[in-house]
Amino acid sequence: MPMVNGKTKIYGIIGNPVSHSLSPAMHNAAFEALKENRIYLPFPVEDVQAALMGLKALDIRGVSVTIPHKQSVMPFLDRIDPVAIKIGAVNTIDIQTEGATRLLCGSNTDWIGANRALESRVRLPQAQVVLLGAGGSARAIGFGLREAGAGILLCSRSEPKGRMLAEELDCPWFPMTALTSLRGEVLVNATPVGMSPRAEASPVPAAILPSFQVVMDIVYAPLKTRLLREAELAGCRTINGLEMLLYQGVAQFELWTGLAAPVDVMREALLDWAGIERG
Ligand code: NAP
Repeated sequence: MPMVNGKTKIYGIIGNPVSHSLSPAMHNAAFEALKENRIYLPFPVEDVQAALMGLKALDIRGVSVTIPHKQSVMPFLDRIDPVAIKIGAVNTIDIQTEGATRLLCGSNTDWIGANRALESRVRLPQAQVVLLGAGGSARAIGFGLREAGAGILLCSRSEPKGRMLAEELDCPWFPMTALTSLRGEVLVNATPVGMSPRAEASPVPAAILPSFQVVMDIVYAPLKTRLLREAELAGCRTINGLEMLLYQGVAQFELWTGLAAPVDVMREALLDWAGIERG
C-alpha cells in the first residue's frame, strides 16, 4: 500500500463496472517499484460528462477508460490523437496543464499493446496477419497493424460488420468458413471464443495452425486457451492475452509519467492476478 500524502499524484480507471479491472494492480505495482508518489484508483462511473469535469477539477493526472465509456468520452475531450479517432475509441486520458487550463487529451493504447506484444515475436511490416473478429478489439488491432505496415486478412462471423471494417482497413474480408484456405505468418484471435466458462472452444480448426509461425489470442481467461495449446502443439510461437493488456498499460504508464515502465514488475502483477483468479 503506497504512502499517500499531500503531494500524491492521482490516476485511475473510469468504467462500469471497474471492480474486476486488473489495471490498479498493474499500475500501483509499477509506481511502487519506481518509488513514485503516485496512486491508481478504480472509479465506477455512470455520468461520463460529470466524471470528466471532475477529473479536471480534482487535478487527477490520467485515467484509463474501459467499457462502456470508450466511445462516449470522446465528445467531451479537448484533444484526441489521430489513431484513436480512426479506431473510434479512447482507452487513455492524459490531463495536461497549459497555463491555468487543464486539457483532457485522449488516445488509444490498445493497438500499441497488441503491436508491442506481436513485435516480441515477429517483424510486423513484413507480416501477413489473419485477424479474427470485427468488434472493438479487432478494430483497434486492425488499425494498429495498418500503422505498423502489416498485411491484413480479416475474417469474421458477421458479414456486414466484417466487410465494413475491412473497407476501413483497406483489406480483404473472408467468412470464417474460408479460414482453411487463408495463408499468413500470424493468426490473431480478437473474438471471445475460448473464453471461460466456454474454454473448450477454439475459433479455428487445429488443422490450419501448422501454416502459421505466430498465434496470438487476446482472450486472457484462461491464460492458455485451447487455441494457444493447439498452436504450441503445431509448433507455432504463441502470445497470450495478458501481453496485450500488459503493453497497453505500459504505454499508458510511459505517457503519464515520462518514465520507462518496469515491464517485468507489471507482468508479475498481472500474472499474480491470473494465478489468484484460477485458484
Ligand atoms: P466485441 O466488440 O463484442 O467483439 C467481439 C467479436 O467477436 C465480434 O466480431 C463478434 O462477431 C465475434 N464473435 C463473438 N462470438 C463469436 C463466435 N462464437 N464465433 C465467431 N465470432 C464471434 O468484443 P471485444 O471488445 O472486441 O473483445 C473480444 C475479446 O477480447 C473478449 O474476450 C475480451 O475479453 C478480449 N479482450 C482482450 C483484451 C486484452 O488486452 N487482452 C482487450 C480487450 C478485449 P459478431 O459481430 O458476429 O457478433
